[in-house]
Amino acid sequence: MALLELKDIGKIYVSEGNVAVGIRGVNLSFEKGEFVAVTGKSGSGKSTLLNVISGMDSYEEGEMLICGQPTSHYLQPEWEQYRQEYISFIFQDYNIIESFTVLQNVELALLHIEDKRERRKRALELLNRVGLGDRIKQKGSKLSGGQKQRTVIARALAKDSPIILADEPTGNLDSKTSEEIIELLREVSKDKLLIVVTHNFEQVEHFATRHVRIYDGAVESDHRIATTASAQTENADANTESGESAEQSESGQISERAKKRKARIAAFKKGFSLGGTLFAAKPKLSVFICVLLIIGTVAIFAVTSVCGDSINLFEKNYMFEHIEGRVVIASNSGKVFSEDDVKTISEDYGANSYLMYDLLLDYGMSNYVYVSEAENGLPFKFSYGEHLGKNIVGREPEANNEVLLYLPISWQPYFGKKEVKIKSIQLQDITLSVCGVKYFYDNTKDAKMIFTKDGFRAVTCLYYLSQRLSPNISVSVILPDGSQFSTSTGTVIPSFDLKDGELYIKDDMLESIIKRYDNDISIHANLMVYYKNYDYGTQQSTEKLYSKIFLNDEITFEPPQEADNVFGSAAFVSVSTFYEIAEEILAKSYRQASLFYSSDKAAHAAAAKLQSAGYIAVPSDTTFEPDAYEKILSTVLNVVMLLIWLIAIVFLAFVVNLCTSRSMAAFKSDMGIMRSMGIPAAVVRIGIYARMFLSLLPAYAFLLAAALTVFLTPLLNGFFTFLHAWQYALIIVGMLLLTLRVTRKQIGKLFRENVKKSIKGGSAE
Ligand code: ADP
Ligand code: MG
Repeated sequence: MALLELKDIGKIYVSEGNVAVGIRGVNLSFEKGEFVAVTGKSGSGKSTLLNVISGMDSYEEGEMLICGQPTSHYLQPEWEQYRQEYISFIFQDYNIIESFTVLQNVELALLHIEDKRERRKRALELLNRVGLGDRIKQKGSKLSGGQKQRTVIARALAKDSPIILADEPTGNLDSKTSEEIIELLREVSKDKLLIVVTHNFEQVEHFATRHVRIYDGAVESDHRIATTASAQTENADANTESGESAEQSESGQISERAKKRKARIAAFKKGFSLGGTLFAAKPKLSVFICVLLIIGTVAIFAVTSVCGDSINLFEKNYMFEHIEGRVVIASNSGKVFSEDDVKTISEDYGANSYLMYDLLLDYGMSNYVYVSEAENGLPFKFSYGEHLGKNIVGREPEANNEVLLYLPISWQPYFGKKEVKIKSIQLQDITLSVCGVKYFYDNTKDAKMIFTKDGFRAVTCLYYLSQRLSPNISVSVILPDGSQFSTSTGTVIPSFDLKDGELYIKDDMLESIIKRYDNDISIHANLMVYYKNYDYGTQQSTEKLYSKIFLNDEITFEPPQEADNVFGSAAFVSVSTFYEIAEEILAKSYRQASLFYSSDKAAHAAAAKLQSAGYIAVPSDTTFEPDAYEKILSTVLNVVMLLIWLIAIVFLAFVVNLCTSRSMAAFKSDMGIMRSMGIPAAVVRIGIYARMFLSLLPAYAFLLAAALTVFLTPLLNGFFTFLHAWQYALIIVGMLLLTLRVTRKQIGKLFRENVKKSIKGGSAE
C-alpha cells in the first residue's frame, strides 16, 4: 500500500466569476523514502498540487488516499488532524514566525511533547542538526534567508511527519545556499517522502529519486531517476509502521472518553504555554494592549464608583426611617399616648422595646452637621443606645449632651484618627459634645449620631422645641423711676451651661440698662410657646400657648458658653427647663410612638395584630409613591446616570475590540503558519485566549491598586462611592467576558479564512 495516492485529482479555482484550473486528472502514488522533484512552468499547478497534498486546499474531483484511507469526506477538523500527523510544509518565503526566536519556532512544532524540558532538548538537537545551534535566541526577523529556511527545516523535522512538502524552498536563496539547503533536506529526510517543487531541476538532480513534470495542471511525465537500496528498505519499514498505528487506534477505543479528556487538558496546557510565548513575542504590542485595558478597567471602576450610587431606578420611598423591626403606632381615635399606654402596648404585643417620642428618628436626612474644615455638611441619622464595639476613637456617650459619631472614613482628617479633634458640634442651636468617633468605609451608608437613651430623649425635646415650636421670650423691665422698658427675642436656646431654671438674656439694650441702674430694677420675662393641638373629634387644630415666667432671682448675668455662637439677641434657658416645657407639650400633642421587634417580619405580624385591635400601626419598611413630578425628575436623573455609565462600558468594549482586532491582524500570518504546521486549531485558539487573558491581568492588578488607593485614602473615599465586593466581582467578570467575546469574534474571523489565505494575507503586510 502506498503512503500517499492521488486518483484522478482535480482542483478548480473559482474567484470573482473566473474559473481557473489548478490541477486536473492527477494520478500519482508516493512511497516513503522518495525524493520527488516537481517541475513545470509558472502557473502550471505545482503549488496547487502541494496545497492539495498538504490539505491546505480542498480538491473537488477524485480521491486522495493516505495509508490507503480516503480523504474526500474530510472536514476542517479532520484536515487539521491530517496535517498534524502527516505533513510538514516548507514554503518559498520561509513562513517562520518572525517575532519568535529560532528556538521558539522549533519548539512550536514540538508541542506534542508534553514535558517542557524534553521539548527543549529535542529542539536543540534539531537545531544543531540543521547547523543553527548558535542562533537559538535570535528572533526570526533577524535571520538571513538561508537561516530562515534551516529553521523551517528543523521545524519540519521536529514534527517527525512522514511527508515533507517544499514549495520552491530555494526560490529566494542564492545558488550556494540553495545547494546546501537541498542537501540538508535530502540528508534529514532519507526515511520520509520528500516532494520538492522547483523551477531549477539541476539543483536537485543529484538527490532526486523521481521527477514529475506538470503541464497545464496535468502530469506530463513521471520518471524514476534512481532507486536506492535504502529507500526500499524504508518502504518496508513504512508498511510495518502503518500496521502498528492501526493496531494502536483499535486498543485506544477502550477508554475513549478518558483519552478525550486527557487530550483536552493537554490542549489547554499547550494553549497556555503558546499564549505566554505569543504575549512575550510582541512585547510592544502586548504592552500597548495592557495599557489600553488598564485605562479601560480603571475608567469603568471610576465611572461605576462615581455614578454608582446615583443609579437607583428602583429606589424605595419609605414613609418612615426604615429601621429593621420598627413599627410606628398611633391611636385610631387621635388620642395622645401616655408613657404607660405605650409601655402596656409594647408588653401586650411582644415588642423588644419602645420609643415614646420618635420624631428624631425620621429627621435624619434633613440634619446637616457642618464642620468648618469640611466643605460639605454631612447628613446624620440619629440613634441611641447602640454599641459600636471596638475601634472607637474616644469612648461611648455617658452624659445627655454627649454623642458618639459614626462617620464615613472620609471625615477622618477632620475628626481625628487617634483622638477626637473636634470636641463639640452644633445641631442647629444645640451644642453637643463629641465623646467618641468611629469610622466606616462603606460611604453608601449614612452617618449616625448616637446618644445615650436619656440623651436621645433630651435632644429630641430640645430639638423639637427649638426647631418645631420656636419659643420666644418677651422681657419687661420696671426701672426705679417706675417707667418701663420692653424687649423681646426671637430665639430661645437651651444651654448645658446654665443651672436648672436659670435664664440668660443676650440683648445689648437690656445690658446697658442693667449696667446703668446697677441691678436696681425688676425684670419680668415671659417665655412663650405656641403649639397646635389637633382634635380628631372636630377635626380641627387649635393653637395653644404655653407660658413660663422668669423673675429677677432666676436671671443670670453670666453668659453661657453657647452665647458665643449666637449673633444678635437671644435668650438662653437651662436644658432642664427646655425638657420640662417640651415634655409637657409633647405629652399633650405627640400622638405617635415606635415599637421595636427583632425583624421586619415580626414587625409586620405585630402591625397586623395591632391594626385589627384598632390601632394605626405602620411597619417602617412601608413605601409610598412619590408625586409624579418628583418621580419623573428622579427617573430622568437615573436614566442620565445610567447612560453615562453605559457609554463608558460601550467605549471600553470599543477599545477592547479595537486592540484585539489590531493584535489579531498582527498575528494573522502567524496563526496561518501555525495551522499550516498542523498545530490543532483548538490549541491556537486557547493560545490566543490565554494571551488576551494575560493582557488582562495587569488591568486587574490596577483595579486592585485603584480600589486600595480609594480605600486607604480617607479623602478619596469621600469622592468615590464605595464599591462592594460583588461590584468588583462584576467588573472583573464583565471585563473577562467582554474580552473573551471580542476575542472570540476576532478568532472567528481569522479561522473562517483558509490557511493558505491567512498566511498570504499576513506576509503581504
Ligand atoms: P504554480 O505554482 O505552478 O506556479 P499554481 O498552482 O500557483 O501554479 O497555479 C495554478 C493555476 O491555478 C494558475 O492558473 C493560477 O492562476 C490558479 N490559481 C492558483 N491559486 C489560485 C487561487 N487562490 N485562486 C484562483 N486561482 C488560483
Ligand atoms: Mg507556485
